[in-house]
Order: sequence, then structure tokens, then C-alpha cells
Amino acid sequence: MRILLVEDDPDIARQLKGALADAGYAVDHAPDGEEALFLGETEPHDAVILDLGLPKLDGVSVLEKWRKAGMAAPVLILTARGSWNEKVAGFDAGADDYLTKPFHTEELLARLRALLRRAAGHAQPALACGDLRLDPRAARATVNGEPIRLTSLEYRLLHYLMMHQDKVISRTELVEHLYDQDFDRDSNTIEVFVGRLRKKIGPDRIETVRGLGYRLAPLEGEAA
Ligand code: CA
Repeated sequence: MRILLVEDDPDIARQLKGALADAGYAVDHAPDGEEALFLGETEPHDAVILDLGLPKLDGVSVLEKWRKAGMAAPVLILTARGSWNEKVAGFDAGADDYLTKPFHTEELLARLRALLRRAAGHAQPALACGDLRLDPRAARATVNGEPIRLTSLEYRLLHYLMMHQDKVISRTELVEHLYDQDFDRDSNTIEVFVGRLRKKIGPDRIETVRGLGYRLAPLEGEAA
């Protein structure tokens, strides 16, 4: 899953970027409103964390423009303490959730998980596909209850496929949601990662749909 982090405070930005990466997300960072506007309109993100007090263009204006342009990702706004009118303006501009500064990183991560699962239509905090389970709270996956060791990219790939299980996901979509903008992207590497993942979770769970992409589904005989 790929997150856009919009924050002008360099210390908070660095800390959140680190925490998000540790939690298994690809992260793009925008330090001002103009960069945020550009990244939000040109790159597909699974969720956005948007500070409202920003240089060049304020967060509420950025959000209004994104929504007008059809940007549909869930947006969590960061607001100043005691500023209820900022929250109202944020929600009216299209925000989905908010946090008041200062906040605990754990709370931000929990809210983000909730936004991501709601956006993908899941109600359960952990994802399941037959005997395969992935728990974003611990950033870990198991098969038949046995933990499987995944690199961060394998985890990200599995997380995305499980969020969108039973759907065919193209390689392009995977590339766009697994890597941040600074990463040297190559859609051929996706095939390599899918191959490695198959070795770890079993060869038949990820189906290759020729010319279209990949689909993760429960094995025959397994409950969904
Ligand atoms: Ca700020």
C-alpha cells in the first residue's frame, strides 16, 4: 500500500516517514501544498495524511482541488489543537478522518489501517484468504497459523493482493501501489516478487491471468 504524507515540519515528516515505512507502507512525502496537489493528482495513493497548515497552498484548498479532480483516496487530516472550525472545513472539503496535533504515532497508524480497510470494503482488522492470514497491526502473515518471513516488498505485495483478493490486479497497478516515486520502477520485477511470494505461501494461491495480471484467491476446498 502506498501513502502520501503531506507535512511541512521536517521533524514530524521524518518521524512519520520512518514509522510508515516500518509499518510496511511505501511513502511519498510532499513538504508544501503545491507539491501535495501535484503528487495527489498524478500518483495513485491508497491513503493520504494531510497536514492543514502548509506553505504555498493550505491543506483545505489542496483537498478541495483533489476532490474536484476526482481523487478518491481516503484522507486523514492533521489539525491544530482547539481549532474545531479547521476540522469542519476539512471534512467539508472531503476529509475522512482527523487527528489533532500533537498525537501519538500509534494512533495515526491505527486510524490509517481503519481508513485503508474501509476503503477496500473490509470490516475485519486482519485479512484472511483461506488459511493465509495477514495482520496489518503486526505487519505479519501466517499460513495455517505458521508465520512466514517476508521482505518489506513481499509484504507490501501480499497486503495489496489480499486487500483486493478475487480481483485481477495488473502489473502496472501493482508497480504503482508498491513503490514510492523515488524508486526505480520496473514492472518485470513484479514477476520476480510474485515468484518469491509463491514459494512462501504456496504455488497456487496467486493465479496468473494471462495478459491481465494476478489474482489472489483461496485454494479449492478452503473457506474464503
Ligand atoms: Ca504545518
